Amino acid sequence: MDGGEGDAVVIGGGLAGMLVVRALLGHVRKVTVVERDRYPDGPAFRKGVPQARHLHILLTGGQEALEELLPGSGAELAAAGARRLDMPRDLLTCGLTGWQIRFHEGRHSLISCTRPLLDHVVRTRVLAAAAASGTAVEVVEATDAVGLLGGPDRVTGVRVRPRGAGRQERDMDADLVVDASGRASRTPQWLEALGRAAPAQESVDPGLQYASRVLRLPEPPGTGVYVQYRPDNPAAGGLLPLEDGTWILTVSGIGGLDVPTDEGGFAEFTSGLAHPYLHELLRGAEPLSPVIGFRDTSNRRRRYEAPGGVPEGLVVVGDAACSFNPVYGQGMTVAAVGALALRDALADGGPRAGLAARAQRAVARAADAAWLTAVGADRPYVDAGQSSAPGLGERFTSWYVERLVARAAVDPVVGSAFRDVVALTAPPSRMLAPAVALRTMLLRRRPALADPPLGPVPATRR
Ligand SMILES: Cc1cc2nc3c(=O)[nH]c(=O)nc-3n(C[C@H](O)[C@H](O)[C@H](O)COP(=O)(O)OP(=O)(O)OC[C@H]3O[C@@H](n4cnc5c(N)ncnc54)[C@H](O)[C@@H]3O)c2cc1C
Repeated sequence: MDGGEGDAVVIGGGLAGMLVVRALLGHVRKVTVVERDRYPDGPAFRKGVPQARHLHILLTGGQEALEELLPGSGAELAAAGARRLDMPRDLLTCGLTGWQIRFHEGRHSLISCTRPLLDHVVRTRVLAAAAASGTAVEVVEATDAVGLLGGPDRVTGVRVRPRGAGRQERDMDADLVVDASGRASRTPQWLEALGRAAPAQESVDPGLQYASRVLRLPEPPGTGVYVQYRPDNPAAGGLLPLEDGTWILTVSGIGGLDVPTDEGGFAEFTSGLAHPYLHELLRGAEPLSPVIGFRDTSNRRRRYEAPGGVPEGLVVVGDAACSFNPVYGQGMTVAAVGALALRDALADGGPRAGLAARAQRAVARAADAAWLTAVGADRPYVDAGQSSAPGLGERFTSWYVERLVARAAVDPVVGSAFRDVVALTAPPSRMLAPAVALRTMLLRRRPALADPPLGPVPATRR
């Protein structure tokens, strides 16, 4: 592969940052990744990705994007023990109206493994691809990006500070800077320091808290289990298999419900879910990790793609641009699809005039479907004073999605459209296809199953 022209600096070498490196290969001469942490030798937790202690699933849309960027990554994850759950067969799901019907549809799956394993596979594959490319890639670990260089109209590099006593700040020049530093991104403040307005920000905060722990189960179920929160019960819990035969339990509370992280409170929390199945399943479970909480979970989108949102030379990706209520499992998929969008925007030449705005629009489009579905589903739980007001379109989306979700639990036609959208393989307009819309709006509401469908599973159901 040929190298390209110009140098890029990527701030943050997490999932989005590494996938951006992959997207840049062949399009720039050199990429320097500035990463706050030191990487562990293998798949291990690191401080810069605190959410990695919690349940992480990769949706079909993310699997496809990852495979396109890094062919063979799915097989490598499987060889390392990552589990593939066919949907809806392999995840018993208790939704708004009860348990979903379960059957083998064979169109969607979730990959379930620890986040450190996923990050490790992505990082090693990206660095291997870099070594075989014409683009030089350098990863500068244990170093913080602390500001942007340039002026209001053009970013020309990054100021960095190595960690450790007495280390001096230094400047890294770049033709293109990509911010992939996650939820804690400081680009809005850095742009203001350059004399440019921070981007407009939208937030929809349903007040969600998370707590997670890894367990060994005496009698593991043959499926994952997810009991969703709903307007009459703000508690949720998900139990999924990990690569080493252990299980991760993540519980959450919405609308400000306190999720305990002490031993007794955490163990009792699942007794308050909408159905007792998950709580009973956990009897005799052996804790293998401490209970870890997480609270910074709002949907938050910075509108860098708006006209004038980014100066020349800067693109913002991943959670730094758009982050989601994590229960929908969308963030990593959006990061991967966004990296593909950046790659395509670079396709007719490397860094050049107008690239930043164009690439930023493409990255934003990659997040649109996930944003619409997450905020549409979260609106019923949002404290009106806390978040930006919903528009007419968003209010209709909330009403329609609520009806559709209830129908999807029992109706394979509506369920199939719903799965396409939540797996991020089809735009939300798929939920408005005539057959789906008619069934959603005209058929009488039917409750879902009262108990989890544990018996034999039909091969297909249409
Ligand atoms: C509790 C929880 C559960 C989630 N579950 C799921 C799920 O099931 N499925 C899913 O798809 N998504 C899930 N997500 C979302 C997912 O974790 C994120 O979307 C994803 O990590 C975004 O990747 P990123 O690279 O943008 O950010 P991150 O993964 O947060 O990486 C940011 C990187 O930047 C580095 N960094 C930060 N600041 C600096 C700096 N100033 N200088 C240098 N380096 C810096 C950090 O060390 C880190 O390496 C979940 C999120 C949370 C909070």
